[in-house]
Formats: sequence, structure tokens, C-alpha cells
Amino acid sequence: MSHVLAAVAWPYANGPRHIGHVSGFGVPSDVFSRYMRMAGHDVLMVSGTDEHGTPIQVQADKEGVTPRELADRYNRVIVEDLHGLGLAYDLFTRTTTGNHYAVVQQLFEGLYRNGYIVPKVTMGAISPSTGRTLPDRYIEGTCPICGYDSARGDQCDNCGNQLDPIDLVNPRSKINGETPRFVETEHFFLDLPAFAQALGKWLDTREGWRPNVLRFSKNLLDDLQPRAITRDLEWGVPIPLEGWRDRSDKRIYVWFDAVIGYLSASIEWARRSGDPEAWRRWWEADGAGKDARGYYFMGKDNIVFHSVIWPSLLLGYSGEGDRGGEPGDLGRLNLPTEVVSSEFLTMEGRKFSSSRQVVIYVRDFLDRYDADALRYFIAVAGPESQDTDFTWAEFLRRNNDELVAGWGNLVNRSVSMAAKNFGAIPPAGPLTDEDRALLETAKAGFAQVGGLIEKHRQKQAISEAMRVVGEANKYLSDQAPWKMKDDPERMGTVLHVALQAVSDCNTLLTPFLPHSAQRVHELLGGTGVHAPMPSIVEVEDLDGGPSYPILTGDYTVGARWESVPIEAGRSLATPKPVFRKLDPSIVDEELARLDPRE
Ligand SMILES: [Zn+2]
Repeated sequence: MSHVLAAVAWPYANGPRHIGHVSGFGVPSDVFSRYMRMAGHDVLMVSGTDEHGTPIQVQADKEGVTPRELADRYNRVIVEDLHGLGLAYDLFTRTTTGNHYAVVQQLFEGLYRNGYIVPKVTMGAISPSTGRTLPDRYIEGTCPICGYDSARGDQCDNCGNQLDPIDLVNPRSKINGETPRFVETEHFFLDLPAFAQALGKWLDTREGWRPNVLRFSKNLLDDLQPRAITRDLEWGVPIPLEGWRDRSDKRIYVWFDAVIGYLSASIEWARRSGDPEAWRRWWEADGAGKDARGYYFMGKDNIVFHSVIWPSLLLGYSGEGDRGGEPGDLGRLNLPTEVVSSEFLTMEGRKFSSSRQVVIYVRDFLDRYDADALRYFIAVAGPESQDTDFTWAEFLRRNNDELVAGWGNLVNRSVSMAAKNFGAIPPAGPLTDEDRALLETAKAGFAQVGGLIEKHRQKQAISEAMRVVGEANKYLSDQAPWKMKDDPERMGTVLHVALQAVSDCNTLLTPFLPHSAQRVHELLGGTGVHAPMPSIVEVEDLDGGPSYPILTGDYTVGARWESVPIEAGRSLATPKPVFRKLDPSIVDEELARLDPRE
């Protein structure tokens, strides 16, 4: 057994989640964590909503609410979305807690003390009406190189050149059209070049990463520049230094605070567990967490934050960059074991776009379809290692042909036939070679499927589990127990073997399909929790702030990753379908909801 941290990307709290958001890392991190727990590891799965930064400030201004009110609204919506999908977080929290502020400031102070954070005066764009930093991508103007009139502050989409906003001709704010003012402003910079060597050494020791992620990360090291980690903004974590702490116009930049969430959420979880030091088992490099592993799940647009910036913060805090230094009070901290990045999901050949209604939100999806139907699609056809298109026709086909006609049918016909003829799990008589072959195939599935999930090859893992389902369906068709009315002993044996295969397949599919796995467990006469589920709990802020909802649960219960012999004589529940067959008309109905514009 070992300690395994599952660190899941933090959704930005400016709107509800669509299925593109949850398919890249939400569901895959849950599949991984569920499997690792079933295999006996001590898993800590944490995340939360990312709530600071300009986009939330801008949207709140537009709606006439405070950024906190906007974040409160979407934090709650997102918690409900993730709960609906059955994502088993030990703690899903948020970045506006007192605990998070304190941990972010602690990291900032440690990095500053070790010399990795330095002040610098630069020319920055300010919105004249608010006095806030106007980030590069909120500025547009005419490209000084090609004359394109809607070039962005950071680059021109027409000629592809990188730009500096101060170079734009007729620069204007995309928020309200005003002309930005370029002023001298003092900010703190993270000295990223001081970590190039340590990062390179660390990346060279990484094994098992998806090759493109490792290559991309190594390439980033060639051009590391100091990066500003504060902003002229009042919405964010205050800068914990003398002379800065009480300034209301300077804040730590959102990307710096959000990545620290993995650590702060682990500490919050420990504080809530009654053992405030328990987080060390996943983090402390020289002590309790020495052998811990940390897996970080995200979309490919966020690789840099997880393979360069977050490791740099950890190295700097631990005193392990070019400038040396001493670890802070939290001790030397573990770097990620693996950065597991997924590709993008598109929808009907187009990019997801909330504004253009090329979108389906998680909650709308779950109003109309079952969580496991979506989880199945994501596992078997999601953007694991290449960009992937979600189409309603493919969703319908996967649901009806594979989930309903494959797995659902196997469960349904074996349980129904056994219930009707025996009322309980029949005992097995002497076994034939065919019986033994199926039992062996099912048993072998545990090492195969488990090994693939552990290597983040979930598409192959679920295909392997479904191959075992196919074998069991073929066995039933070949044996045809319904023709054995005059040989009840043999009929009982065949059904016993089939039900054992159902039980094993159900365990193999549990990380992917936890909701239906619980139902299949009950159909087989099982009681108690087979696949534990998260709950939404309203909690007080540990440091005196307002209360908020978290996702948490007790995942020490439930099935283990092993074949459990079924008990002859155990009564079977009244059979009912495990999955819903969908009417083909849903395809046209769903397409009609999409914006028809190309
Ligand atoms: Zn240009």
C-alpha cells in the first residue's frame, strides 16, 4: 500500500461546467482514484473551484455583483455538477477560504525568503476607470507589424507574431473600450530561470509520462523568463510582506494562488479529519510522505502550470533552485510523480462555446441521461491521448449497442434466468473446460484492467473489461442454459459460472461505472456499499469566513479489486434493467438545441 495523491485541475468559477470540462480530467481522475483505492492504496483526491482573477472580476462588474457573490454562485453549481457525476473527492473546496489564503501566503513567504521572488518596476497597462491591471488578452488594437485591426495584447492572430500591448496602435480595452494607460508599476516576479536546472534534472527522471507531455515540458525549459506573480487588482490573496500586506490595490496573481490549491486543500482535508498533520503523508518529502506518489490531472492547455510552475514553487520553497535556501515550516515538499494531461473534446466537429451554444452543460446532460452513460462514453471514447469529437449519434450508439446490449444484457439475462429458475444463486456442479475458461478470463481481467488504469490507459482498460463482458455473453449464448430445463444441475452450473463472471465484470467496471455497479451488486443479492459516493456537506470556514459546500466522502468502504466468490443460495433481487436504452430521436432533438451557425 502506498500514499497516492490525485490532484485534479481546479475549475474556474465563472460558469457551469460543460462535458468538455469534465471529460479531460474530471472523470479520468475519479476512475484512477477509485481503482487505486480498490487496489488498497491510501488515496487523497483533492481539488476545488478557482475563484480569483480578472475574468471573475469583469463578469461580476458586468452583473453588478461582487466577485465573491459570483464565485459563491458558481462554486455551488460546480459542486453539484461534480457530485452528479459521482466524482469521489476526499475534499473539493475553493480558493476563497481562510486556509487557502494562509497556505498561499506561507509559500510566498518561503519563496521570498529563499530569494526566488523579486520586486521589479515595469510598464503595465491599467484601466483608467478602475485602476486595475488590464491583462494582455483584454487589450486589443492594430498590429504594428501587419496592420490587422483586432490584434490581441499578447499576440496577433493574423500574422502570428508575439506582441507587447504597449506596441499596439490605438490600443483599447476589450472590457469597456477605453484607452489603457501605461504606467510604471511595481510587482513581484518569480525567478523561473533559477529553476531551469533543477526542473531539467527532475524531468529527466520521469517515467511513464505520455511522450508528448514530457517533450512539451522539456521544451518549455529552453526559454524560461521571470514571471509576474502579482497584479493591480483588489480581488485575490493579499501580498504577505511588510508594506504590501495592507494595500488593497495589489494582489497575488490567480495562477500563482490556484496551483497552491493542491497543497492547501490537502491541509484543509487534514484539519477537517481531526489530524491536522495527516496531509504530510502525501507531501512531506523527508518524512511521512517519503514514498508517496502524486498524479496531476488536467487539460493540455494547463501543462505549463503543472510541469514547470508548480514544481518551481515547490523547489523554491524547499530551497532547491539555483539560489539554494532552506525549506519553510511545511518542510521539503514532494514534486509531482506524473503530470497526466488529456487532449481536447469538441462537439459535433466544433469547439465548445458557451456564448454560441455549442455546448451541453453537465447538469442538463444529467437531467436527461444517466451519469454512467456519460462516464462510459468518456472512458471509451474520450480525449485521452488525442483530440476527440463528441457526437450525439456516437453517444447513442455507445449507450445502446455497448452499455445496454452488451453489459446490461449480460447482467439482465443471467440474473433473470437464475431468479426465475432457482430464486437464488444456484450451486455449481462439476465444471467443464468452457466453464473454467470463462472463470479464468474473468479472473485475469483484474491484473490487465488494473495495470492499464494505473498507467492512465483508461480507454484500453475499459475495452479490456468489455472484452470480458463479450466473452461471458458468448459463453451464455453457446451454453444456452434456457435449453437445459431437463438438466437443472447443469443449468445451475452454467448460471453459477455466468453470475460469477457478472460479479467479476462488475468489479472491473466499478471505477468507470460506479452508479450502475452498486445496482448490479444489489441485483446479485449483495448488501451494503459496493461503490462509495461523495456527498455535499455545508461546512464552516475553519478560520472564521463564511460557510460553503464541500464534496467529501468515506471511501474506505466498498469493493476491493479482486474476484470474490459468489455464494450459492444467496437470494437474487427482482431483475430490472441496469441501463436505459435511448430512443434514436434524441440525436435530432439534441442537434436542434445547438446553435446552427457554422
Ligand atoms: Zn499582425
